[in-house]
This record gives sequence, C-alpha cells and structure tokens, in this order.
Amino acid sequence: MTSPAQPSAQRPEKRAIERADETAMPLTLYNSLTRQLERFAPIDPANVGIYSCGPTVYNYAHIGNLRAYVFTDTLSRVLSWKGYSLTHIINITDVGHLTSDADLGDDKMEAAARATGQDIWAIARHYTEAFKRNLADLHIRTPTRFPLATDHIAEMIAFAEAIEARHCYRLADGLYFDTATVPDYGRLARSQDDAGESRIDPVEGKRHPQDFAIWRTSNAGENRQMEWDSPWGRGAPGWHLECSVMSKQYLGDRFDIHTGGIDHREIHHPNEIAQNQAHCGCADTGATLWMHNNFLVERSGKMSKSGGQFTTLQTLVYRGFHPLAYRLMCLQAQYRSELEFSWDNLVAATTRLKRLALTVQALRDRAAASTAAPADARVDARVDARLQDYRSRLDTAISDDLATPRALPILDELLADKRLSPADRLSALADFDAVLGLDLVTISPRGSARPAGSGDDRRARRQRSPCRTSRRAGGKDFPRSDAIRDSLIADGVEVMDGDPIEWDWRLA
Ligand code: AMP
Ligand code: ZN
Repeated sequence: MTSPAQPSAQRPEKRAIERADETAMPLTLYNSLTRQLERFAPIDPANVGIYSCGPTVYNYAHIGNLRAYVFTDTLSRVLSWKGYSLTHIINITDVGHLTSDADLGDDKMEAAARATGQDIWAIARHYTEAFKRNLADLHIRTPTRFPLATDHIAEMIAFAEAIEARHCYRLADGLYFDTATVPDYGRLARSQDDAGESRIDPVEGKRHPQDFAIWRTSNAGENRQMEWDSPWGRGAPGWHLECSVMSKQYLGDRFDIHTGGIDHREIHHPNEIAQNQAHCGCADTGATLWMHNNFLVERSGKMSKSGGQFTTLQTLVYRGFHPLAYRLMCLQAQYRSELEFSWDNLVAATTRLKRLALTVQALRDRAAASTAAPADARVDARVDARLQDYRSRLDTAISDDLATPRALPILDELLADKRLSPADRLSALADFDAVLGLDLVTISPRGSARPAGSGDDRRARRQRSPCRTSRRAGGKDFPRSDAIRDSLIADGVEVMDGDPIEWDWRLA
C-alpha cells in the first residue's frame, strides 16, 4: 500500500452527482435536536457550513476521538460528492477545557503542563500537529480552517460582554451563564432530569446546577501559563465559549451542521446553544442540524482520554495495522451505533481491506493489458445503465443518514461484476473512493502497511503484534490463534506464518 496521501483540499469531487440530476437521492440526516431524520436543505445551496468540535490538545487523540472525525469526513465527502461546496471548521481547544465537562476541576492544558513540566504552548503545538497527522493518515480531508481557541480570546471577551447584562452573573471565581434566561435550555440533551443534572455538581453560589462558566478568573497565587486580562479579572475563557465564537466568526450566526461526539449532546452543545440564543436574542440554536457520532467503546467501557489508558492511531501502526484498516472498521458501523473496538475486529477489517486492495490491483492489471475492441453503442448503453445503477445504489445507501455499512457490500458487488470490464469497474470505483475515502483506486497491496515516518521496523511490529505470531510466541493462546487462522482461511486468505498481518498475505 502506498503511504497515505496528504488529504486533498476540499472541493467537489470530479464525479459529483449534480444536484439538479433527478436521479440524485435527497440526503436525510439525523438531527439530535428534533430527534428525527430530516431532509437536508442548506441555508445557502452555494456553500454548506459545517462546524466540528475539535480536540482538546493536552494529549494525543485516541482512536475513539478519531472516530468522530472519520464521521465528519464521511459527512463532508458525501456533501462534496453530491455537488455542494463546503466551509468546514474544526477548532482546536488549546485552553479552557476543565477536567470535568461540568465546569469543575483543573484546566486540562494547565494540568498537563504541570504534570510534565513543559511549556503549555509547546504542548498545544505538539498535540495539534500529531492530531493533524492522524487525520492525514486516515485520509480525512483537511478542513477549511483549524482555528485555535487562544487566537480568539478578544472575540470571546467581546461576545461575553455582549451577553453579560441580560444573561450572566458574577461569582468570586468568574462570570457565569444563567441558563434560565434562554428558552428551553437543554432541549438537545437526552438526560434532562436526574442523570443529566447530577453530572453537573454545584459551584457555590450558582443560581442553577446547570449554569456554567463563561470566564474563569485565576485564583490568587495560582500560577497559570495561559491567562488574559478581562473585565472580570485575569483568567481564561470557559470551554463552551470558543465554539459559539468561532462558529459565528467563520460560518455566521446561522449555519447548516454542527457535529461532535455523543457526549457533547449532554453539556457542551446545550451550553453553546444557550450562548448562541443569548447573543442573537432569539430562539435560534445556531446550526440547523446538530449531529453526533456514537462512541467507540472497549469491552471495559468508553475509551477516554482523561482516564489515561487509551489506544492511539500510532499504537495501531506500531502493531502493524494500516490506518485505513481502522477507517474501514469505522465505516463498517453506522456513525450513530456504538462500535466496539477489539484487535480481532481490526484484524478482520485489515483482511477486508487487503481483499479489496488485491481485487483492485488485479482489475488494474487486467485493464492495462486489455486489448478489447471498442464496444458498439448498444453495449455501451447497457454498461452505462449498470454503472449508473451502482452509483444510484451507493447514493441511496449514503443518503440514508450516511449508511456506510450498506455501501460496502455494493462496492464488493461492483468489483466482482463480470458483466463490466475491469476499466468500467474501476471508473465506478472512483465514486466509492470519493465517498468512503479508502483510496482503493491508488492503493497497492505490495507496498508497506506502515505510513511514512512512523519509525518502527517490521520485526518490532511483529513482536508487538496482537495476532497469531505473538500469541504463538507467548505460547499461551494456541486455540485462539488457530481460530483466527481458520477464520482467515475461510475468508479465502492464505496465512503465512510469521507474517500474519502484513501485506504479504495472499488470497488463496
Ligand atoms: P476531546 O478531545 O475530548 O474534546 O474529544 C474530541 C472529539 O472526540 C469530541 O467530538 C468527542 O465527543 C469525541 N469523542 C470522545 N470520546 C469518544 C469515543 N470514545 N468515541 C467516539 N468519539 C469520542
Ligand atoms: Zn465545541
């Protein structure tokens, strides 16, 4: 496989289905706000605005976090494929996110700086760059902008000043938002009663348990590396403020889609909505659609960054897995379903990716060697109809709230369709690549499974492999190892001992 390409700039794909085309399916997407599927109707059909809550850069993103961006990338690819131009913003939270989403605890960035003794700005830069590399390795297209919270402090202060008189009150440790001053606070959240509110512990003096900090003043004697002067004292913004400010600045008061992980549906996004409503003095939530991906979970529970124990994309790479195998694993589940991560599931996704890559390679070889005479017009029309049928079925699947698991078997069918020439199958494959981002048109099973620069040799990877070799070497789990072998052979994969997850696997 070639090393993952840099993501291309966001532009409509060449083979975009024209919006005017009557065969194009209307796109329906699930709106967490109304709790129903809705037909997508952009505010400005010439440009769709998407805001995705970005990472808090006090540590590496874990693969659960990255599922959130595989989801937004699928959304953006589908919109591009359907012919829309996009402005897509992914912010970088480099200040303000406390160790609890409910406004308690330490600032995560300051805590990381204290724990490591490092400069906080260097920490933020390091993890921001690592995050961007993760996106590139997963073929996630570069958004229009990655604005940093710390570049928008003046705008956050201006926003807070604009809502202060009618919606905020002061406490000893800062400025708080009074959630009773906006209509229908928390409508987005699922758990309005005990479960939701009990998560938000009271800060002394808060008028309502769910009120939240807009600005937090530094405690006397506190040694913060990131703090700014404000009308409420020296300190730092509350976490929710940055997303209201940056979405408004780059997408306007009303934009199309706001995304995040499902945890954001409970606190962060209701609070953003409350701020937006306060600022516009109306009931508008800011975005038309609020979309949330479900969690990647492990058997032990939700994968969490603050818990300290988590798996990064780099861990997968060290263990010999290509990042696109993880992307494929994500695509095998609909974004609103919980997805369980296990090494066996990742092995299965790797096998599937390899089978696809080998099939495409064989088609490419045959297309290059083909000396077939040009077909007559009648055959051409039949071929066109078949190709159009694959495109429409892909369109139907992904237009149904991005049902990627339904698109994958259609891809299998296309690649195996002997009624179409290799060249025709490859031409239709381009549509699937545009939507699924697996880059199968250029993938090579003969290359390395390792992205460039990951700095690990094959032997070390094999030693760390969770798969058959290591199980055998450890001598502890032969039945499990043999079960994996049997399932691979049943899948038509020839397993070569000593090289269980490299690209040298062959289809039997
Ligand atoms: P954070 O860096 O913690 O602010 O999270 C970045 C994104 O990852 C947010 O959209 C979160 O909602 C999302 N997220 C966090 N944990 C998971 C998980 N286990 N599975 C899927 N998405 C997650
Ligand atoms: Zn946000």
